[in-house]
Amino acid sequence: MASQPNLSHLRSIFAISIVHLSVLSLFLLVPIVLASSNGLSEDTEFLHSEILRDEAVARLTELGKVSDSEEFLVRTFQSQASVRAENLIRRWMEDAGLQTWIDQMGNVHGRCEGLYPNEKALLIGSHLDTVIDAGMFDGALGILTALSALKVLNIKGTLGKLKRPVEVIAFSDEEGVRFQSTFLGSAAIAGVLPVSTLHVHDKSGVTVQGALRNNSIDITEDNLLQLKYDPESVWGYVELHIEQGPVLETAGLPLGLVKGIAGQTRLKVTVKGTQGHAGTVPMKMRQDPMAASAELILLLESLCKRPEDYLFYDGHCTSSEVQSLAGSLVCTVGEISTWPSASNVIPGQVTFTVDIRALDDLGREAIIYELSNRMYQICDKRSVLCLIERKHDANAVVCDSELSSKLNSAAYAAVKRLSGENPDNVPILMSGAGHDAMAMSRLTKVAMLFVRCRGGVSHSPAEHVSENDVWAAGVAVLAFLETLM
Ligand SMILES: [Zn+2]
Repeated sequence: MASQPNLSHLRSIFAISIVHLSVLSLFLLVPIVLASSNGLSEDTEFLHSEILRDEAVARLTELGKVSDSEEFLVRTFQSQASVRAENLIRRWMEDAGLQTWIDQMGNVHGRCEGLYPNEKALLIGSHLDTVIDAGMFDGALGILTALSALKVLNIKGTLGKLKRPVEVIAFSDEEGVRFQSTFLGSAAIAGVLPVSTLHVHDKSGVTVQGALRNNSIDITEDNLLQLKYDPESVWGYVELHIEQGPVLETAGLPLGLVKGIAGQTRLKVTVKGTQGHAGTVPMKMRQDPMAASAELILLLESLCKRPEDYLFYDGHCTSSEVQSLAGSLVCTVGEISTWPSASNVIPGQVTFTVDIRALDDLGREAIIYELSNRMYQICDKRSVLCLIERKHDANAVVCDSELSSKLNSAAYAAVKRLSGENPDNVPILMSGAGHDAMAMSRLTKVAMLFVRCRGGVSHSPAEHVSENDVWAAGVAVLAFLETLM
């Protein structure tokens, strides 16, 4: 059943959390001062288009052809194509002047120690696996732009002058296609991957442990635990990723700063009515779970479109705070089934899923509380039974202000240098999708940059980032790294 939190407690924590979020938003929206600390040194005049654009695009295209299928792009955890991709990425890491290794979860690492090896390390990463029939930028763009930027530093002879170690990690699994378990690579490094995951099996009965052993990687419960990084050795984690949505394209800018990754709840709603003959049961005598479900789904839509019309907090929080929740709240019914499913039968039961995401965890709780109450009322009124089950919860991740500020300045400088214009600001976005940064936030502070993609399309071969936007991303990462000198 849906949890029913104490409302007065919920009211006050919701208000506090919204205030917290507002302070963060204020900080992020402070106009950026472009001083000499904008991260671009004088000799980046030519912005290294041959490496940050031409070579990066060529490598993205080459990696995009490393697939387990000849018809479309697919690379799943420890598949043959994934192993080929690991070796390719490792070669490019070495080309950038990095020390490389592959760990026992198949993550590829490339590291340079910088001036002070005992300083805490900056980690930069994204994933090398893909969905089925994928585009070539999801995950790969974050890895390739980091390697291009480090290669530029290496050529300039400044790679060893970074004040702290920098490590690029190409994570072995983020999409979870093969084992239905996301973040295998990053969760292992963050130390939050349960050891039981090693025994999860794919559709053909091969376990995670078996898949690694098939590629000569000996993983045990003990050495899985040893993959966890010491939080004291890590300064922070940065990830650059395609936006996978249309906001940057609409704004007309190539880069955007991510303020946080939305928290998520999945519900399963079961509505039970009275099964009957479509031709003989009079309308007034029906307990129809299909019509009830339609009303419940429309309720969800209007509640999530205008939460301010539904949430009242007796002065504990203002309407602008609820508006702030409305800015990130998205709700979806993506799957529905009926029993029996036939055109001449009033179904006995309807089941549907609800996916709710918001940047504010307590705001999300408030929505679930209100939604559940109103759903039960509708079911009572219609004389059908409602069962609401919570199937999955993940808390939101708020990006770190210090790292975000540096990334913001670097992105702004990149946009300004490449466009020659002075945009008001770099757009600030929420990520509705999960990323490796979500797992890494359990280890260290995180920050993310999004890159514009055509039409907001992702998880599709139509996924596209323009050559100049790949360049802008590389210039931004380079500018960010140069702040470490
Ligand atoms: Zn991705």
